[in-house]
Amino acid sequence: MAEFMELEAQDGVRMTWNVVPGTKEEAGNCVVPVSAIYTPIKPFPNMLVLPYAPLRCRNCSSVLNPFCVMDFAAKIWICPFCFHRSHFPAHYASVSEENLPAELFPQYTTIEYKSPREAACLQSVFMFVIDTSIIEEEMAFLKSALSQVIGLFPDNSLVGLITFGTLVHLHEIGFSTAPKTYVFKGSKDVSKGQLLEQMGCFLNKPKPLTGVRDGLSSESIARFLLPASECEFAINSVLEELQKDPWPIPADQRASRSTGTALSVAASLLGACFPGSGARIMAFLGGPSTEGPGAIVSKNLSEPIRSHKDLDKDSAPHYHKAIKFYETLAKQLVHQGHVLDLFACAVDQVGVAELKVVVERTGGFVVLAESFGHSVFKDTLRRVFQSGDKGLGLSSNGIFEVNCSKDLKVQGVLGPCASLEKRSPLCSDTIIGQGNTSAWKMCGLDQATSLCLVFDIVRKDIPDATVQSSSSQFYFQFLTFYQHSSGEMRLRVTTLSRRWVAGPGSIQDLISGFDQDAAAAAMARLVSFKMEIEAEFDPIRWLDKALIHICSRFGDYQKDTPSSFSLSPRFSIFPQFMFHLRRSQFVQVFNNSPDETAYFRMILNRENVANSVVMIQPSLVSYSFQSVPEPALLDVTAIAADRILLLDSYFTVVIFHGSTIAQWRKAGYHDLPEHQAFAQLLQAPRDDADAIINERFPVPRLVICDQHGSQARFLLAKLNPSASCNSDGHRPGGDIIFTDDVSFEVFLDHLQRLAVQ
Ligand SMILES: [Zn+2]
Repeated sequence: MAEFMELEAQDGVRMTWNVVPGTKEEAGNCVVPVSAIYTPIKPFPNMLVLPYAPLRCRNCSSVLNPFCVMDFAAKIWICPFCFHRSHFPAHYASVSEENLPAELFPQYTTIEYKSPREAACLQSVFMFVIDTSIIEEEMAFLKSALSQVIGLFPDNSLVGLITFGTLVHLHEIGFSTAPKTYVFKGSKDVSKGQLLEQMGCFLNKPKPLTGVRDGLSSESIARFLLPASECEFAINSVLEELQKDPWPIPADQRASRSTGTALSVAASLLGACFPGSGARIMAFLGGPSTEGPGAIVSKNLSEPIRSHKDLDKDSAPHYHKAIKFYETLAKQLVHQGHVLDLFACAVDQVGVAELKVVVERTGGFVVLAESFGHSVFKDTLRRVFQSGDKGLGLSSNGIFEVNCSKDLKVQGVLGPCASLEKRSPLCSDTIIGQGNTSAWKMCGLDQATSLCLVFDIVRKDIPDATVQSSSSQFYFQFLTFYQHSSGEMRLRVTTLSRRWVAGPGSIQDLISGFDQDAAAAAMARLVSFKMEIEAEFDPIRWLDKALIHICSRFGDYQKDTPSSFSLSPRFSIFPQFMFHLRRSQFVQVFNNSPDETAYFRMILNRENVANSVVMIQPSLVSYSFQSVPEPALLDVTAIAADRILLLDSYFTVVIFHGSTIAQWRKAGYHDLPEHQAFAQLLQAPRDDADAIINERFPVPRLVICDQHGSQARFLLAKLNPSASCNSDGHRPGGDIIFTDDVSFEVFLDHLQRLAVQ
């Protein structure tokens, strides 16, 4: 695995198969698709940024790279993708074996280019959309969190403000003498034309002058979007005045909340002011949308908010209509190049499941918390605006493109992006995620954003041995054109080569190139995607079939002898990953609300391999007087009265005190000078949890609990039920899990029996 991590450290990419199955049939037998999880703008300490434009192949427009074949005498380079021969232009005339341009150095498989022209001073724009149909206490939390980040806005940014409840208020914060707002009815969608008309922009200036955007002069824009340096007072005074939606709510009704219209007004305003340049709508939602387009539930409290069961039975009356509305909004934002970030803070569901399409297509953030007062929300919001080394490296206006060898095709991308519908011979007929294109829009992306590309091997038969020996490499090139957080336009180029194999004797090669962590991450995205789009899809059956197939193909065994079964180290933890994936929040959706499921999947779909693995199979560390902190098996037998456990399941970090530890803590032993060692034992997992929380985005929830306490369920739900109430062998001081899940031992036993058949 170390070698796969080295490749990731060089190029930001992990592939499921690093030795690629060479034919369609071979790839089918490998079960896990050939895919790459790629972090397009992962920061590298020694990233070379070339101050000139890249040289491109005239035929396929791939970029000159270390895998090109050179003919120095003729000053020609040969493209590894289409074999086109290109002459070097005049300014490359001095190129020779001894005098290579940097982009041909073998170590620069990943490199960046920046535009030679002076970087235009591109502003970032933030449009805050704030829900006011929330209780006073939540309003106070939200105001305090917002006023804390106002001072952190980037210097060159512009800020605007929309508030909504029953009505939608667009605040004219640039109006110097008195606060002024434009009010829109929440129950009806507002088109861009209606918006502009109501704002009176056209009435004053019937003939827009040249240089104005979409009829809006810069003076008009300045009425609604203020430079960050000047907005602090204006925004603070609006926030101070901000009150809970004044409309009375009958006891049997939900608050009136026109989320869809508010987002639509925000999108249209940004579309009129800044089409094509980076802008983010940041929506702060404190409850379900109940009014106008995009409503997810009626105001009548007797109608419950849709559950997974309702969606399954297709009995959620507002769902499809809301999805349709948000799909249109997503298209509009992608077209404009703008992002929607969602901060959903409520005990109830707010409609994350319906809004997912907008957030995911535009590459926005999503945060789910119970309250605006919760650290998950407050700390995450602050992290968004943090600059420097701890910043997220927020970038915008990305376009992602792929080139690959002609025996490969692209089925699609699972991740935060939108198809640009660029049909090319590279597109596969089978589509996964955003497919049928070789270019994708990434309105918002940051240093962690990771896409999963799924490839198809299209070659039918094995070429004869002579051809195979001369060119048994597949090539991939990933091009990301984006606006760097500094404002510069950059192009990142990553070019990869992987050996392919086919025919008898290729199994050992395939095994040696299998990255089981990357495979688990890809399978998690794939199973989530299939659950969302395929009716009647049975995820457990699909995962089990895949695993059995893999084990019988790549395992070592004598036919019909389960006890002889073994797996190479390259595959050895893959069954465990699949066991935990089956039990995870991505597959067992009925334990969560549709909003939670949408949230978990959106985060999975944007994270790298290491973080995805933690989501699938949490990590567990044990602290005790007997030893230094050590990793523990994710099993109920890890629980002991005199131990502290630290569970990291990505979304939640749990510190679990065994019953004796909890007793000592309650008795205050850690405060006594003679029990210094106990104080240290208590503190160690806290420090480690803080380290995890400090570097993660969104900030995870911290749960501190005791054995037998009600919060202990956060740990128990993630443990292998090796000692469940229907098995004996209950140990004193340990714990049992009440479940009818199968344990990993039983699962593995079945697997071995089926694999050797
Ligand atoms: Zn080419």
